[in-house]
Amino acid sequence: MQRARPAPADYHLISVMANFKTFEARVVRSIPLSDFTKHLELEVEGVNHFGYVPGQWLSVKAVTPDGEEMTRAYSIASPPTDNGHVAFCLNRVEEGFMSNYLCGLEDGATISFQGPFGDFTLRPPLRDTLFIATGTGVAPFRSMLHWLLANKERHQDHEFWLLFGARTEEDLYYKKEFQELETKHPNFHFLPTLSRAPETWKGLHGYVQEHVGEIVGMRSDMHAYICGLDKMVKANRDLLKTLGWDRTSIRYEKYD
Ligand SMILES: Cc1cc2nc3c(=O)[nH]c(=O)nc-3n(C[C@H](O)[C@H](O)[C@H](O)COP(=O)(O)OP(=O)(O)OC[C@H]3O[C@@H](n4cnc5c(N)ncnc54)[C@H](O)[C@@H]3O)c2cc1C
Repeated sequence: MQRARPAPADYHLISVMANFKTFEARVVRSIPLSDFTKHLELEVEGVNHFGYVPGQWLSVKAVTPDGEEMTRAYSIASPPTDNGHVAFCLNRVEEGFMSNYLCGLEDGATISFQGPFGDFTLRPPLRDTLFIATGTGVAPFRSMLHWLLANKERHQDHEFWLLFGARTEEDLYYKKEFQELETKHPNFHFLPTLSRAPETWKGLHGYVQEHVGEIVGMRSDMHAYICGLDKMVKANRDLLKTLGWDRTSIRYEKYD
């Protein structure tokens, strides 16, 4: 006897419910990116392939020493792979539980999470795109850019800019990696900017929003993706709107 197929609406429900499954992941590597920031590489247990779209995040669960269950969102900082690996770019927040818990994990430790969640993902059809990040807000862009640039058919005929703001050069996470991508792909432009640059710094100075106008010029036919703390996201959204951009061309994720 033939089994009844789920209706299309049920397929949607099944995929949404799948995200509420709790997964375990093992820390494969924890690498300091700066004094307060870690790159955490995880292997999701019990799966060969962990599916997600670049830009999505996971909801990490942990119990505090007081017995309170906490959940916090963390963007996936790596492109999809076939080995069930995902990475986080984590910043220690003063007095915060989850960020310090995750940054303190040793190789081999396990964490619990649900997901993937979120629609901060690349919107088709692809256009020339400006990615704007500060701090660990660069995480979803590391995932998107590695995914995009890995396949010429995905990215040819378009230009991409990563405008990445930090206080000092030490806080420009994955700098070497982005520089290597820029060397390899003439249509990718890595633009780090420092708000507390030393005299020796030859790159851009100041906040990210001070450089957006220069990059986009008179154009409003591009996409912009913005990720980081609320104040920075708002400043850049407001700026792009005053430059005549339609709000649907601007996508953003706020971390606080
Ligand atoms: C969709 C999404 C994706 C995120 N992705 C990442 C990521 O990839 N990497 C990452 O490091 N964080 C990310 N965050 C932030 C993360 O979820 C937590 O908010 C952060 O780690 C603080 O959690 P906590 O439990 O340590 O501190 P909490 O106890 O939540 O906060 C402690 C104090 O710090 C303030 N605060 C909260 N978050 C921040 C922040 N990010 N910066 C400065 N002050 C803050 C709070 O207002 C509070 O006063 C993301 C947030 C969202 C919503």
